[in-house]
Amino acid sequence: MRTSLTCALVAVTLSPLPSTLPGQASRGALAPGTWAITDVTVIPMTGDTAIPDATVVVRNGRIVEVGATRNVRVPSEARRVDGRGKFLIPGLADMHTHLYSDGDVHDSVAKYELGVMVANGVTATRLMIGTREHFGLRREVESGRIVGPQLWLASPQFTGKEDANSRVVTTPSAARTAVKEMADLGYDFVKLTLFLPPPVYHAIVSEAKRQRIRVVGHVDPEVGVARALAAGQQIEHLDNYLESVLADSAPMRSSVSDRGLFKLANWESLDYIDDAKVDRIAGETARAGVYSCPTLTVFKKAFALGQSVEEIESRPDWSIMPPGLRTLYLGAREKYWSNPATEARRTRYVQVRDRLVKAIADSGGKIMAGSDTPEWFFGYGWTLHRELGSLVAAGLTPFQALAAATRHPADFLRATREWGTIEVGKRADLVLLAANPLEDIRNTGRIEAVVLGGRWIDAAERGRMIAMAAERLGGGGS
Ligand SMILES: [Zn+2]
Repeated sequence: MRTSLTCALVAVTLSPLPSTLPGQASRGALAPGTWAITDVTVIPMTGDTAIPDATVVVRNGRIVEVGATRNVRVPSEARRVDGRGKFLIPGLADMHTHLYSDGDVHDSVAKYELGVMVANGVTATRLMIGTREHFGLRREVESGRIVGPQLWLASPQFTGKEDANSRVVTTPSAARTAVKEMADLGYDFVKLTLFLPPPVYHAIVSEAKRQRIRVVGHVDPEVGVARALAAGQQIEHLDNYLESVLADSAPMRSSVSDRGLFKLANWESLDYIDDAKVDRIAGETARAGVYSCPTLTVFKKAFALGQSVEEIESRPDWSIMPPGLRTLYLGAREKYWSNPATEARRTRYVQVRDRLVKAIADSGGKIMAGSDTPEWFFGYGWTLHRELGSLVAAGLTPFQALAAATRHPADFLRATREWGTIEVGKRADLVLLAANPLEDIRNTGRIEAVVLGGRWIDAAERGRMIAMAAERLGGGGS
């Protein structure tokens, strides 16, 4: 269904939203036209409930009515979609992504990358290492010239050592200058990686407060989780948590966060985890109000469970992976698995990270779903669905897992007026599913259609978006 071409109510210019709430403006195009999906089960994500036999009316890209079908009047001019037997959830947010086009392949493929995300139900994402090109990309998405998720942009990575798309800061004054620059350029976040000693870290955090830009990312071992929580930094990958839950009696201080993973000796630390500390730091995380994006799937599969070449090549993700990166990651995988940690320690690694996630959620902390695609063979969108499965495997309910990809990201991004739930006034960012995700979280992958700002993307169009990406990115082969 292409409402924009068929509906009489076309080309309504949207008045810009009042600018009193920064960050609340819609970051994507809204499609003109009126349509309704009828007799569908709506999972609005306003609470752990579903509304059976419901009708949702969309006008000019926004939801104008939601309710029991018998109570909703569908305008006569509206196109109708029969939703019987189907389930409607809010569009999904992937809170940790990168693009191939950030450096490894040409910028012009970015639209195909974003297209795959949308085809897989991702209607908002945060690019975790920003480049200047992303601002242009964001404008293209906002104007509707590129069909992509709404974009939030983190800065180039702040680090103490040169890296790809990095901003090297080694002194407090350089750190302050860099933070101001990122705020002036319009990045949404300052992204930290590693080698940032406490004085530099504190300079970043205090300048970021002055500039009203938030700090997100990794936690340097010298900084530690306690300092990051005190600073209100949003933490990715549960970085440095494993180090912070080592028993006092442990003979080591290093563990396997980040690059520590690649040092076999560090895995011994998994024998010295203090479970009481796990629960304690989870509670502290919740009380600090710090959102956590654990990216469980990529770490679990790449470094603990392992993935056979056969498994990797059989996934749809493989088809959109540039040949150069296939070679690179296959080599890295081979090297890592030539001398892996014991199975017992790898199992413990998964258990501890899962326990952290569940304990944070149980303590009232906010978990956000992030895929870290396209790292380690994991492709756009598909891996967000896997991450929801990983959150449920960690002990979250399907509702909690869905919240991690809908209302929690919207909350964190201060975009709740625009998206995150299915409610009147919100953008029509929706995913229509063939089966109930609250019964089995894997059902988020059974997509019938995606709606992006009111634009209906059916199975055929989704297929074309993925096929085009395979051709432009994966070289058409597999
Ligand atoms: Zn990342």
